[in-house]
Amino acid sequence: MKRKSTQMIIAVAAVLAMSLASPNAALAAAPQHHDQAPGFFRLRVGDLEVTALYDGTGVFDPHWLNGTKATMDGVAEALREDPHMLDVADTGFLVNTGKQLILVDVGAGTWWGGPAFGRLAGSLRSAGYTPEEVDIVLLTHLHSDHIGGLTTQDGKRVFPNAEVYVAKAESDFWLSPEIAAKAPKDAQPFFQSAQAIAAPYIKAGKWRTFSGSESIVDGMQLVPLPGHTPGHTGYEFSSKGQKILFCGDIVHALRVQLQHPEVTAIFDIDQTAAAAARNQLLPKLASEDVLIAGPHMNFPGLGRLRKEGSGYSWAPVVFTDQWVEHAPSPQK
Ligand SMILES: [Zn+2]
Repeated sequence: MKRKSTQMIIAVAAVLAMSLASPNAALAAAPQHHDQAPGFFRLRVGDLEVTALYDGTGVFDPHWLNGTKATMDGVAEALREDPHMLDVADTGFLVNTGKQLILVDVGAGTWWGGPAFGRLAGSLRSAGYTPEEVDIVLLTHLHSDHIGGLTTQDGKRVFPNAEVYVAKAESDFWLSPEIAAKAPKDAQPFFQSAQAIAAPYIKAGKWRTFSGSESIVDGMQLVPLPGHTPGHTGYEFSSKGQKILFCGDIVHALRVQLQHPEVTAIFDIDQTAAAAARNQLLPKLASEDVLIAGPHMNFPGLGRLRKEGSGYSWAPVVFTDQWVEHAPSPQK
């Protein structure tokens, strides 16, 4: 007992001595940390668990947009005010239906260049899953920033047990050596990457195409959105009266194309059809209050549309660390 109290007195004296010597020692010693939270965010849609998986972030060049001179002058002016207004994320989405694990688009992987992409498989692991567990991959289209995460540079399948689904029109276009041979030179890399990324899944008998409204997953509807690419397709999941649409590249530059849906991107294979698809879809999404999952919206890429003037504004889902029910918003 006596020995213990002596020890305590020594300890208290030591602490007092330290605090007198350096009153702010604890504050000064804390190093800065530059690592961030793991790249996933999940929410509930009916009985579905939907997880946004971060792959990377890039900058959308204003020269990739086609609009009237007045609109593009406005974009240039806005960019001077806010140089980050065309920053875009690259996100894939995981749907756990309770029976199956389904990925919708898989990010760029190592096929878009630069170290800023290729995080999706790591984000998936951080969210508690493994690539081996994924049953199905649904592809909105075959641009490498949506499919690169499927395959390593040495031709290995990242999702070895997954069946990969894409529209037949999309697969036929990008995987055709004849069409590739006739394509302009700056489009060639898109054909080459699509073919290399698809190859190991085709070889393994895991590449599946659809051409109509076939049922692939219970409660999921195909939403054809041709224009950006020939077989560009959205996937709409419904559960308990709630809906989420994985909309692919219906919008690239959120802060331009929601106010000006007529503005197209140079990556749109058919500019007129791409604008028409956007003009048709956006009013429907706004009036039906559909939850939208957009790969290039600011992470986590989830939100709703609101009518604003002659266009729309984006009402993003706001980050929380709670597991929340994303019921239809109160305006309904
Ligand atoms: Zn695209």
